[in-house]
Amino acid sequence: MSNLKNVVLTLFVFGLLGACGVGGYMLFKDQQAPLITVTPGDGRLSQNSVLEISLADHASGVKSLTVLIRKNSTMMTVYQQDWADRLPERKEMVNLSSVNLQEGAFEVIVKATDGSFAAFGKGNTATREYSYRLDTTPPRVSVITMPPYVRRGGVGVIAYAVSEEVASTGVAVGDLFFPGYRQSNGNYLCFFAFPYSLTVGEYAPKLVATDLAGNSYERGAGVNPIDREFTTDRINLSDSFLASKMPDFEQDFPGDMTNEQRFLKVNREMRAANRAALYDIGKQTSPSMLWNGTFLRLHNAANRARFAEKRTYVYNGTEIDVQYHLGHDLASTMHAPIPSANDGRVVFADTMGIYGQVVIVDHGLGLQTLYAHLSEIDVTPGQAVRKGEILGKSGKTGMAGGDHLHFGVIMSGMPVTPLEWFDAHWIKDNITDRLK
Ligand SMILES: [Zn+2]
Repeated sequence: MSNLKNVVLTLFVFGLLGACGVGGYMLFKDQQAPLITVTPGDGRLSQNSVLEISLADHASGVKSLTVLIRKNSTMMTVYQQDWADRLPERKEMVNLSSVNLQEGAFEVIVKATDGSFAAFGKGNTATREYSYRLDTTPPRVSVITMPPYVRRGGVGVIAYAVSEEVASTGVAVGDLFFPGYRQSNGNYLCFFAFPYSLTVGEYAPKLVATDLAGNSYERGAGVNPIDREFTTDRINLSDSFLASKMPDFEQDFPGDMTNEQRFLKVNREMRAANRAALYDIGKQTSPSMLWNGTFLRLHNAANRARFAEKRTYVYNGTEIDVQYHLGHDLASTMHAPIPSANDGRVVFADTMGIYGQVVIVDHGLGLQTLYAHLSEIDVTPGQAVRKGEILGKSGKTGMAGGDHLHFGVIMSGMPVTPLEWFDAHWIKDNITDRLK
């Protein structure tokens, strides 16, 4: 009798396992509660903060999630969800704005249960607790300097104080952002551009500061904008120029195309990609000013092209493209030694698209100088350089017809006119005297 009973029981158990499959067996065996990850996991939050809660349970899936807030020993539920489908991973966004929280410390308790049959069918529950501080007050910002005069294509600087620690601060101009940098006296310095592409009417720089909880302060940066005219030029593209230059760009733009088609790709797509790269390199800057005095202009060099010159490219009598020239073209002797315009640190020394062999020197607080079309590079990234120290030799690499230096000044990734930095009076009136 008992033998038969064992056989029946065994068949029953195997039958059950067979019916439920391996997954079903796992539902019994799973002892592991879901893994909970909350981002951010600590720190300051604002009323608009969103907690990203990631849950993972690969054995039996996630069944439910409950999120509670404890403030002064009062518990509130901010989120409760039971799922019919037991997904192995879930990502839920929990918005704090649904609870009327007061300033100060509070805790978030996250409970997640898996879909296993553990704990008499209730599943394995994980509970995790996180501590935060609610901060609903935006930082207070007070500008210390008088409103700067900023010329189109040029640069302005402001010094200001911020009432609390911030996650980010600086001057925003449309999509461009010019970070402010905290100085040893506790105040912030921010150098920012008046982009050549904007008119006086369009230029509306904003001073912004966002605290660690995400509360933002924003107001007009308070500047006196001044217009500036830029030159224009027509560039006749000869077949011999295209024939001599375009093979250099076949690797970047392969395939069967005419020299004119390849030129347009270089002049548009590669130029845009190089501008984007400059914006990223602009973030690799020292938080303090490394430069001193006026910037050196290549000695005895003729100025062949100026900043923000509007260039119309003509091929076989037809206007085929328009681009802006964002530096000074300085022509000296062949393979002229190129000095660093000021003290700084090399942040880029390599080949880059239209610039050919190029060196970029960081002078701190977002200010960088660029030396393009070099035939030789004598420095390496990370190297500190002094004003006048030789970076390399001039040449015609990249999109250059003849041996010259393309000299650029860049403010947090935005090309600006070099003229201001060659001018001792401008530096005194607009920077050093203002920051005293
Ligand atoms: Zn140039």
